[in-house]
Amino acid sequence: MVDARRAMPLPNVGAIALQQGSRVTDSLARPLHDLRISVTDRCNFRCTYCMPKEIFGPDYEFLPRSELLTFEEITRLARVFKEHGVEKIRLTGGEPLLRRDLEQLIEQLAGLGGLDLTLTTNGSLLARKARALKDAGLNRVTVSLDSLDDAVFGAMNDVDFPVQRVLEGIEAAAAAGLAPIKINMVVKRGVNDHAVVAMAQHFRGTGHIVRFIEFMDVGATNGWRMDDVVPSAEVVRMIDAEMPLEAIDPNYYGEVAERWRYRDGRGEIGVISSVTQAFCRTCTRARLSTDGMLYTCLFATSGYDLRRLVRGGAPDREIYEAIARIWGARGDRYSEIRTAETAKLRKIEMSYIGG
Ligand code: SAM
Repeated sequence: MVDARRAMPLPNVGAIALQQGSRVTDSLARPLHDLRISVTDRCNFRCTYCMPKEIFGPDYEFLPRSELLTFEEITRLARVFKEHGVEKIRLTGGEPLLRRDLEQLIEQLAGLGGLDLTLTTNGSLLARKARALKDAGLNRVTVSLDSLDDAVFGAMNDVDFPVQRVLEGIEAAAAAGLAPIKINMVVKRGVNDHAVVAMAQHFRGTGHIVRFIEFMDVGATNGWRMDDVVPSAEVVRMIDAEMPLEAIDPNYYGEVAERWRYRDGRGEIGVISSVTQAFCRTCTRARLSTDGMLYTCLFATSGYDLRRLVRGGAPDREIYEAIARIWGARGDRYSEIRTAETAKLRKIEMSYIGG
């Protein structure tokens, strides 16, 4: 297994501004705008492209509770990231809704003020939690759903989880006001690519935004092959042939999805093309793992141990400076340099680093 806690020493970078409140940029002039926080490395699904059963089986050792950042530790780090200019926080995992009392964390993060708080979930527990999440201060949710067909979806989540219960979660989230809701569909060649148009059709006119994601070589266990990737251009062509589309501008600098709207005005879709159209140039995302490692790329092979600082009694100023040094030295652009060889690197698993 990859040693996820293989920590790098803090980089030494000379000329970065360390004024409290000033905005740090990385070596490619990218600002720090988003923070993804993994709140658990556990999941109740075993999606074949993310946590395949053969690796994440009954004997797999997930992190013990004492290793997880507490809600107070997460909130403290989030406050320091906010001072660096982070405006958006996404809670993820693993399956974030498996983390007990998550609403309490959301309440604490909402208390920091001025943050766009979102969460990515497989939707399995959303129907009963949506209202409490909204009341705690969550702004929006993204729900993953790879097919509307139980046989296909069951084979992909590998625990036979029924589509209907995810749809109920989506409805509950909409009723609670966690909108606009985004629906993530990972498209894999020969597995669910035949279901792309049906997925778009189902959600057209609902206000929910389906985002079609290229199958990525995250982690080191999902058996990724380029042949399994369905390029987003192909997805757009398939949908456009049935329901004409036109490209629209991003909502903000660094938005992950490329946006397309239906020409008849009945909504929009997004495509996330990390493989065929890398968007590293505008990547403004940092990732905090469940146990407090900071990663500056989804495809990282090592990170920086912020938990050591937090639990070692470092004052906020020291953590602020550490983040400035890490971000200032950042030069990641994995998707731009991806090859069949880099795909074999022992990258950190997505369930741990946070999707
Ligand atoms: N459990 C939550 C969920 O299912 O949404 C959050 C974590 S999950 C790792 C976050 C997102 O990453 C999901 O939409 C999932 O489909 C996507 N994902 C996981 N592995 C992927 C891969 N190899 N390529 C593309 N997307 C992937």
